[in-house]
Amino acid sequence: MFKMLRVLPLSLTRIKYSNTSGGAATGETSHVPPRSEIPDQYKWHLEDIYANDELWQQDFNTLKSSLKEITQYAGTLKNSSQDLLACLKERDELGIISGRLYAFARMHKDENTSDTKYQGMTGKLESLLAEAGAATAFIEPEILALPDETLTTFRQQEEGLKEYSFYFDNLARQKEHVLSPKEEAILSRVSDITQASENTFNMLAHADMEFPQTIDEQGQMVQLSEGRYSLFIRSSDRNVRQQAFTNLFTTYNRYRNTFASTLSGNVKQNVFYAKTRNYASTLDSALKGDNVPTEVYDNLIATVHMNLAPLHRYVALKKKFLQLTDIHMYDLYTPLVKEVNFPFPYEEGLKLVCTALKPLGSEYAQILDTGLTSGWIDVYENKGKQTGAYSWGNYGTHPFVLLNYNNRYDDVSTLAHEMGHAIHSYYSQENQPYATSSYTIFCAEVASTTNEILLLHHMLNTTTDKNIKLYLINQYLEQVRATVYRQTMFAEFEKMIYEISEEGETLTADSFDTLWHDLNVAYYGSDIVVDKELGIEWARIPHFYSEFYVYQYVTGYSAATTLADKLLKEGQPAQEKYINFLKSGGSDYSLNILKQAGVDMSSPKPIEITLNNFSTMLDQMEKLLT
Ligand SMILES: [Zn+2]
Repeated sequence: MFKMLRVLPLSLTRIKYSNTSGGAATGETSHVPPRSEIPDQYKWHLEDIYANDELWQQDFNTLKSSLKEITQYAGTLKNSSQDLLACLKERDELGIISGRLYAFARMHKDENTSDTKYQGMTGKLESLLAEAGAATAFIEPEILALPDETLTTFRQQEEGLKEYSFYFDNLARQKEHVLSPKEEAILSRVSDITQASENTFNMLAHADMEFPQTIDEQGQMVQLSEGRYSLFIRSSDRNVRQQAFTNLFTTYNRYRNTFASTLSGNVKQNVFYAKTRNYASTLDSALKGDNVPTEVYDNLIATVHMNLAPLHRYVALKKKFLQLTDIHMYDLYTPLVKEVNFPFPYEEGLKLVCTALKPLGSEYAQILDTGLTSGWIDVYENKGKQTGAYSWGNYGTHPFVLLNYNNRYDDVSTLAHEMGHAIHSYYSQENQPYATSSYTIFCAEVASTTNEILLLHHMLNTTTDKNIKLYLINQYLEQVRATVYRQTMFAEFEKMIYEISEEGETLTADSFDTLWHDLNVAYYGSDIVVDKELGIEWARIPHFYSEFYVYQYVTGYSAATTLADKLLKEGQPAQEKYINFLKSGGSDYSLNILKQAGVDMSSPKPIEITLNNFSTMLDQMEKLLT
């Protein structure tokens, strides 16, 4: 998983975050050493970016003076193909320097988030990057204003403009949605105001709202938080998970009208922009950025609907094996098997990942080996270190990976996942010019999830211990439930609320509740009790403020499943296509890139394959449990 970094004006969004929830259900942590106690061989080599802070400062000054230079191109892009090329090259250079500066400061900051030096450097740079955004803002409007014939002539005249072909074609598609300069000026002036709904949501959900106390597994009353909720809801103690569920949703319910107002306000804002910019619908406007037809979205929902039976069977099995007379939503997250202890010290985890990823071929294996042994990875937790995991691809240096490795199977899986992102970045940058080196979010999670699936496949094939097998299958089933079924339900909810709003009808807390409740009943089937409290769950999903975003979790996961299947069954030919996919970076639209790799996301096949695998795993689990 990841979240987008929104503060950056240039294309620096190369960071991929993972959600890894660690720690005991009490929120206790064991002794965490200071960074100085971590041996150097487990630390990343940020000195591969800048040998010291002085060199960073020099580059910072260079960036600052380059900003003045690039503004001199304003108004000149129509003059000649040379001016256009020079300006684009200059902007690439700014992007590369900015990326380098940001990576160094931010990753140092993440080593110890309480370190004020790198906080200062990061902050200072973020201000400069905002200036860079403003200084380069003239470029796209000027290109869009060029008459088609002029741009065609320029592209024919200037060999150097070839590497921007995809960029120009992509920009041209947006032409019909660009308004007159006067209208654009008004739109840019209201953009702060239209952000208000999302800002209010964030303030309420993350700053002002307070949760009550709830019971933990030791029977102690502790303060509930979203973080603790995600641990308590998995508890094998039914009382703990039920209390957490009730306490969380009762609190959201208290602010139901405010949440309804922020969500409907956000919907209205997006509908306004889509209509003003002449899109067929808000969905069309959201998907057009990556040239994804709305049919892909609709087919996804339809295909999942036709394959709900395995999910209903999963619920029934959980009810049976947890020995419950009635199963509620708060019973779904708890594992069917007790936590099994099969630790993987880091060196063993490395070996396991290398073996499991063999189907990706010898070249991939070599790059992986380099990555694992040459300072790409920051392995262990230390005092003040950023939690979770991410990969950072940076043009001109090797990628970096932050982990908080804690010897569990999950940590090995996270390592495989993040190395998937890292090697995707590596291949893209080795094979693409800067202009097309950045891959889309649509493609990003395919490269990481394929690795996770290959690792799981290897584990299931080589494990003889029944409990470990059950643990792995359970984990897989929960992943598909949470990623494919649940996110499709989210995607369907979004589609419904946008259609209601586009038809001019009002969205209220009650209408959101009813839609949410009915979707849960349809998805989870008649075996589950959908408690009244659950109706408010829509209020706590921050992704609804990034419209039509979550469906990409489903497409990413099912593309990865399909590609992993091919790699295992077809060998060499599938392998070549897969490596080409990694090399493609952002040189084409996501659907085209994936089609070349061997998976057609406009067909129902990838989702059918995924849910068929889900069903097969369900059979295996049933067999092992009876
Ligand atoms: Zn990821």
